Amino acid sequence: MAKRALITGITGQDGMYLAEFLLDKGYLVFGLIRGQNNPKRLIVEQEIPKVELIEGDLADISSLVEALVYSEPDEVYNLGAMSFVALSFKQPELTGNITGLGAMRMLEAIRIADKAKKIKYYQASSSEMFGKVRETPQTELTPFHPRSPYGVAKVYAHYITLNYRESYDMFACSGILFNHESPRRGYEFVTRKATRFAARVKLGLQKELAFGNFDSKRDWGYSGDYVRAMWLMLQQDKPDDYVIATGETHSIKDLFDLAFAEVGIKDWKPYIKQDERFMRPAEVDVLTGDYSKAKKVLGWEPKVSFPELIKMMVKNDLEIEAKKKD
Ligand code: NAP
Repeated sequence: MAKRALITGITGQDGMYLAEFLLDKGYLVFGLIRGQNNPKRLIVEQEIPKVELIEGDLADISSLVEALVYSEPDEVYNLGAMSFVALSFKQPELTGNITGLGAMRMLEAIRIADKAKKIKYYQASSSEMFGKVRETPQTELTPFHPRSPYGVAKVYAHYITLNYRESYDMFACSGILFNHESPRRGYEFVTRKATRFAARVKLGLQKELAFGNFDSKRDWGYSGDYVRAMWLMLQQDKPDDYVIATGETHSIKDLFDLAFAEVGIKDWKPYIKQDERFMRPAEVDVLTGDYSKAKKVLGWEPKVSFPELIKMMVKNDLEIEAKKKD
């Protein structure tokens, strides 16, 4: 019998890579999709037609129970979230409701609907929980100090997952994932901003980018590698939490250097306009993950390097933007 998986956040970057990964493994894949007329429905239907979409919302527990009853999953991957840190400062209540309480609703829906206790649950925790870091590199035992409503909501989701594991003996895991990117990354995120901008400058479509803080440093990996880690966590004998990272840190300047080098432009600074509006009320300066537990227990390691990742993203954006030029 084929295994069955339910993914929330199916229209997102990770949801799509995870769906492809699980379909390759022979799973039946169901994806929770929100909204009356979600514009990303078409993208999922066209790119991954084998996924069965179920309407539901992390703000609505009865829709989650319905989705579980309908899909009868062996594994639930809760990837749905208000995931953009900057927006979380503008919409803190909604972020708390979806990113934080949404996880509790899904866990509660599983507790109610899964009498046989067969469902394994994956929670998309985040390195943003470390925020103002207490130690470097960050491990599963590093204390949290989130610096945004998004980070705070993720801490709640992380601990409620642990609480359901301990209280109800649920197979519930959290993956503390450091930043990961891909050609499917949303345009609002810094990596995609940089790769798209480089492509557009090269093609003569844009001359200036308003941008905030260049000083942050991140541990950036490839989404396609990271969804493999999510799956591995649910294949273990015992539920546990794992840091998933590359262990390497790069600055936003490195990111722009690589993206522009890919299109043959050396000095990108003349194209940037510093804009205070893009600064956050509180910043996370540096993140570096220690993934040695995942390596030891899951046998997981990242495969795609940072330069390879940026190259892949720029190539994709050149193709997309070139079509706009025609
Ligand atoms: P993403 O591309 O922003 O996708 C977020 C997904 O959440 C979208 O499919 C979105 O659906 C869905 N969503 C938003 N509000 C919802 C609601 N009320 N009910 C149900 N679904 C809702 O994020 P991602 O990069 O794939 O990340 C996946 C997960 O990992 C997120 O939880 C994110 O916070 C977490 N994470 C990401 C990273 C990273 O670097 N990418 C690192 C650590 C953790 P719509 O299309 O309807 O908006």
